[in-house]
Amino acid sequence: LLADKLDNTFRRLRGLGKISEKNIADALRDIRLALLEADVEFGVAREFIGRVKERAMGQEVLKSIKPGEQIVKIFRDEIAALLGGDAVGLDLTDPARIMVVGLNGAGKTTTSAKLALRLKNEGRRPLLVACDLVRPAAVDQLATLAEQIGVPVYKPAPGSRDVVAVAREALEWARTQNGTVMIFDTAGRQEVDEALIDELRQLHAFLSPRETLLVADAATGQQAVNVAQTFDRAVNVTGIVLTKLDGDARGGAALSMRSVTGKPIKFSGEGEKLDQFGPFVPGRMADRILGMGDIVGLVEHAAARIDEEQAAKSMDRMMSGQFDFNDFLDQMKMMQNLGPLEGLLGLLPGFGKIKKQLPEGALDPKRMKHMEAIVLSMTAKERSNPNLLNPSRRRRIAAGCGRPLMEVNKLIKNFSEMRKMMSGKGKMGAMMKQMASMK
Ligand code: GDP
Ligand code: MG
Repeated sequence: LLADKLDNTFRRLRGLGKISEKNIADALRDIRLALLEADVEFGVAREFIGRVKERAMGQEVLKSIKPGEQIVKIFRDEIAALLGGDAVGLDLTDPARIMVVGLNGAGKTTTSAKLALRLKNEGRRPLLVACDLVRPAAVDQLATLAEQIGVPVYKPAPGSRDVVAVAREALEWARTQNGTVMIFDTAGRQEVDEALIDELRQLHAFLSPRETLLVADAATGQQAVNVAQTFDRAVNVTGIVLTKLDGDARGGAALSMRSVTGKPIKFSGEGEKLDQFGPFVPGRMADRILGMGDIVGLVEHAAARIDEEQAAKSMDRMMSGQFDFNDFLDQMKMMQNLGPLEGLLGLLPGFGKIKKQLPEGALDPKRMKHMEAIVLSMTAKERSNPNLLNPSRRRRIAAGCGRPLMEVNKLIKNFSEMRKMMSGKGKMGAMMKQMASMK
């Protein structure tokens, strides 16, 4: 994975107090190799490195207080620019037709409904058309979703086989429906094959859609690039929808698809529910590709409200696994300063999913107060050396802060697990989850 390759490069950079041109050159070389290995096209990678280099060698980095952090940020911004680039909205001029294409299971049908819901909420009048005549249950699936969101749907007669004929009927039907934009859900395949491409090409020629959206599963990996190219050649894709961003995919495919096809990623799907969908956010994807959550964002955000020095120190200690209860206290104060914890956690990609797994009320400020009370009842020695916390000390702490012993034990247990995890690979999301589930 691109992210794994870059992990070390960034960890090294972050650790540097002062930075030299040689450090920068080394890092850029690593980054360039990683990009090439991730199938990013050679010219794109070279141009990209050129831009990062220009900025990195400038005053911006060499004179900054935290040069490592600064370079990572430049890299992140440039990736975001590469992903976002000239991203534009949908062309919905009349007759607004959107054709949705992609492999089986990519999320076409779900995306069609999600898009319809979104357009409807914008005050438009979407119509859905079921053009997947291959899968037996496909029509009913779309019809069920359409009903959930209150959008009219055209269902071809059972046994229909000719997708162009169905589209023609649907256009007739649409005259009676007072819609302003039509969304055509199409059939997919396990792999791209001639029959599928043929069918889509004919449908595309008949509809002349304003938008042809290629739906791609974010976890597909590098093969997604070939798929994207094949679809693009057949039906002239106007935009990509990246689905299942709520999963573990780290996004190398997005970068490659975007850079190789040159097509903008217009939307992303972030869950099975129909409202878990929205415009693609390049910055968030860049963070995912960098595999570090939005650490840069966290640092920036935090720096605005708290002592910058302390934030950096605490971040470093977290990542290096030296974290103790003193850091934990600092962290809690930082979070309290930052306002609602959810706002902060929301900066992390995939947080929606984590949140679902949390026990009810785990982000409650009251519980955080309890955690803080427990830590404050520890002696300075215990805080810096949590291994000292034997049963009798725990009982003393519980009595001191007025919280049940069970709660004290749980906090210490979760803390140890969190520390263990942090000293491994820097998985911010998991870490935050641990932190949030302490009570
Ligand atoms: P199609 O074969 O391309 O039409 O794919 P479907 O729309 O039927 O989706 C396949 C599966 O992926 C279904 O179980 C969907 O609920 C699921 N799915 C679609 N989009 C997303 C998403 O953004 N996140 C998650 N977690 N699941 C999704
Ligand atoms: Mg489908």
